[in-house]
Amino acid sequence: MSFDLEPLFPNIPPSKPLMMAGPCSAESLEQVLSVATDLRRDGIHLFRAGVWKPRTSPGSFEGMGEDALKWLTETREKTGILVGTEVGTTRQAELALKYRLDFLWIGARTTSSPFIVEEIAQVLKGNDVAVLVKNPIAPDINLWLGAIQRLYAQGLKRLACIHRGFSVGAESLLRNIPLWDTVQELRDRCPTLPMFCDPSHIAGDATLLLPIITEALYREYTGIFIEVHNNPPVALSDASQQVTPASLQALMASLQLSNDCDDELKRLRMLLDQLDENFIRLLAERFRLTQEIGEWKKKHKLCPYQPNREKLMYQLRSEKGRLYGLSPLLTEELFQVIHKYSLKKQEDEN
Ligand code: PEP
Ligand code: MN
Repeated sequence: MSFDLEPLFPNIPPSKPLMMAGPCSAESLEQVLSVATDLRRDGIHLFRAGVWKPRTSPGSFEGMGEDALKWLTETREKTGILVGTEVGTTRQAELALKYRLDFLWIGARTTSSPFIVEEIAQVLKGNDVAVLVKNPIAPDINLWLGAIQRLYAQGLKRLACIHRGFSVGAESLLRNIPLWDTVQELRDRCPTLPMFCDPSHIAGDATLLLPIITEALYREYTGIFIEVHNNPPVALSDASQQVTPASLQALMASLQLSNDCDDELKRLRMLLDQLDENFIRLLAERFRLTQEIGEWKKKHKLCPYQPNREKLMYQLRSEKGRLYGLSPLLTEELFQVIHKYSLKKQEDEN
């Protein structure tokens, strides 16, 4: 599908990746100004901040509303940074236009509702505003694409997507699972559509951001959409996944080093990283299973270490490895390490 789009932000210098950063929620004028000033100083031109927060449970912090729009425009005047927020209703879209925000995004929950997206698209019609559409919560590429088509049909030509991970029911440390290959399908079908990665909502934890950003850069995403707070531990929403402007700088600087290489090497490393990710996921599944086995042994008063099983296992694994052209020594050593840690886990729980 070919969207005939216009540059997303024609007045800011191009950068790879394009950074869009700011707090999960705008909490006060001081907070917004402080984060925006730091980001602007670090060369970032696009400031995100939630004004209306779509919370799972009522009673959680739901955003500061229209007051926060005023803080955003004041911050834009003072720092020159472009500002944007999430809109989830027609009223919110009208207010965001009234305050002339530079960009808007449609959140994951909203993208899932064609009625609301259509109504918001009608409100935005005829306005020159950039709109980014987050993936829907479930991995339904057509639903995501449908939201883009609805905006495009109303004449919006500054459009982009944000990959923020999906709910797929898998057990993981991550808050939302990134489906890189599924998203790649959308990118291949719509090559003109810029794709951002939101590592904050994928990770749900500031300590897990690095491999996600790395993957997005390898895959040449247009930009990174990331949550940055002046004092993350006291943030009113999504405290655990936000970083300070200084940590964002450090994070991005550490990435520049490894990202500087030939295209072919980059492609091959990307494939390797994907394989290793699958390998790690399988390893985690294996450990969960050995834990179950440990519980069974405990219940049946069997000690975790079973010498016969160990001997047979190494033999079978190295034979199997040989069938795939692996050195039997490699397979045996690898399984010795894996088995050592499985036993340790079973013994610790005994
Ligand atoms: C956000 O970006 O603050 C947000 C609420 O994201 P999502 O729609 O991805 O949950
Ligand atoms: Mn958030």
